Amino acid sequence: MGSQAYRGRFAPSPTGPLHAGSLVAALASWLDARAHQGQWLVRIEDVDTPRCLPGAGQTILEQLAACGLFPDEPPVYQSQRGALYQQALDRLVAAGWAYPCGCTRQDIARALAASGQARQRHGELVYPGTCRQGLNGRPARAWRLRVDKNEQKSAFAQEVQALVAIDLIANSSTDLMEAEVAWQDRLLGRQHQNVSRDVGDFVLRRADGLWAYQLSVVVDDAAQGITHVVRGADLADNTARQILLQRALGLPTPQYLHTPLVLGANGEKLSKQNGAQALHTSRPLAALNQAAAVLGLPPQTGDTADALAAWVNAWKDTACRPHAPLS
Ligand code: GLU
Repeated sequence: MGSQAYRGRFAPSPTGPLHAGSLVAALASWLDARAHQGQWLVRIEDVDTPRCLPGAGQTILEQLAACGLFPDEPPVYQSQRGALYQQALDRLVAAGWAYPCGCTRQDIARALAASGQARQRHGELVYPGTCRQGLNGRPARAWRLRVDKNEQKSAFAQEVQALVAIDLIANSSTDLMEAEVAWQDRLLGRQHQNVSRDVGDFVLRRADGLWAYQLSVVVDDAAQGITHVVRGADLADNTARQILLQRALGLPTPQYLHTPLVLGANGEKLSKQNGAQALHTSRPLAALNQAAAVLGLPPQTGDTADALAAWVNAWKDTACRPHAPLS
């Protein structure tokens, strides 16, 4: 990939101001973009409106600016991009990859218990596919992606009979039917996940009408031409789902690098819930030095701009030791 083409982004959810943990992802994504002489964008991911704090998007932008991290294009807000997400869902529905689901959480728990396979992951129930065959008279609540290879094949086979461009569609669907997704993380190395077994048919549009993170992030990364995603390791296990969705929508897959997390006192990822303090931008270099240390970068003194420039150089050689060499 030529260095001109690099487009990276920082995509915070404005559930509160930046804290020491989120600055790590912001700094790493900025450094990686600069090290590639690429563009760095900021996207405010305010789709989950009940969790968003009014004004937090603006606060984050101001905190970034205080740290010398300026986006190369005006920030976009996901709350204003619903039409794009709807178009993507419409395409998935038309092609048979998405279906409406009428299940409540209780329905899912009951179905799993009845089948003797109460599968859970991170406290989330693995969806057993109840509504794949139809809603059985229940109202649609959410929309889900059909991830399973074999089920997709049979549903797909029926579709194909009704279509003329059989070869074209059969070819484009081959990869998608593989719910076991492998990908190379530039820091974590080779990753894989069987989405069908570990997650099941995941939600694209939620029962409350809000767009799910997986759909909005995939649509926006493609719409904004993002070539490299650099974000916190807590998001790493969303990647397989996002790759499946990219394939379903015929979108390119960016390169991924997941940065180390800052842990709170309880040993979990630092978050507002476990006491993360809003970043003090009155002393930006102190905040940046803390974030840089997490990324294995040496401490800097003096001017913020000089510190950032030094870290860009260090990033090119050493930081995070990306598996894919910088180009
Ligand atoms: N908005 C997500 C978050 O703040 C990050 C999305 C991403 O980088 O893919 O947790």
